[in-house]
Amino acid sequence: MSTDATTTPTPRADGAGTEPTGRSVLVTGGNRGIGLAIARAFLAAGDKVAITSRSGEGPEGVLAVKADVTDSDSIDAAFAEVEAAHGPVEVLVANAGITHDQLLLRMSEQDFTSVVDTNLTGAFRVVQRATKGMMRLKKGRIVLVSSVVGLLGSPGQVNYAASKSGLVGMARSITRELGSRGVTANVVAPGYIDTEMTQNLDEDLKKQYKTSIPAGRFAQPEEVADVVTWLSSDQAAYISGAVVPVDGGLGMGH
Ligand code: NDP
Repeated sequence: MSTDATTTPTPRADGAGTEPTGRSVLVTGGNRGIGLAIARAFLAAGDKVAITSRSGEGPEGVLAVKADVTDSDSIDAAFAEVEAAHGPVEVLVANAGITHDQLLLRMSEQDFTSVVDTNLTGAFRVVQRATKGMMRLKKGRIVLVSSVVGLLGSPGQVNYAASKSGLVGMARSITRELGSRGVTANVVAPGYIDTEMTQNLDEDLKKQYKTSIPAGRFAQPEEVADVVTWLSSDQAAYISGAVVPVDGGLGMGH
């Protein structure tokens, strides 16, 4: 009898997909929205999941640790707690982010620097701390949560777009520095996702957005989580420095 290749998985020569789960995963900003969906997806796959946020709260099943990504000491303390409980962080998702929209001419330097400090420098702080352990492990997965706006641009978001496009250069430089050590670094660029960050947008603006999205709809946080968990899997071991859009086609060509 012949083997049906569509139903019988062939073991891969590199062993990908056969590794047990149970990795130490850390998701920043994992107490709500996209970060929470990502944390839940890793949990469902059998990983040991820790999340950070400024409130320190989180759902059942995850280790919720208080940390502000703008404060290196609090990040260091959070990593120490996570490492003691779960071991060195093998998968890092830098997801914490804020917006502070304002048209360029009215944007204060503080509006600009506060967003960059959280979204870009905040990612640098956690990535730098996590890679110490990853280099010892000789493996690691880094996923930076950017935005379609990082490459497309958006009026009123000079600060946010600058912070999010900076993550692309960061992931690609990490790839060049640590690619040979079994560490991958990728960017996920969501479009419009239904979370607290977007639910207060003006209804007219929401309608306008919807008409410009080829998929004709907004996405749920779980749709971003699926891509993040896949990029963190063994199957994605040869993908690094990539920008993966989850935007219904909104940012095509950018
Ligand atoms: P939410 O506003 O729902 O959640 C933001 C998360 O970031 C919270 O967990 C918040 O926790 C955390 N956070 C913010 N500032 C800090 C800080 N200084 N230190 C630690 N944690 C912090 O946002 P979303 O879930 O919508 O967004 C998640 C990521 O996805 C962000 O980076 C965002 O830019 C990006 N994104 C979102 C899109 C969308 O349409 N929603 C589209 C494209 C990208 P707490 O306040 O408790 O500290």
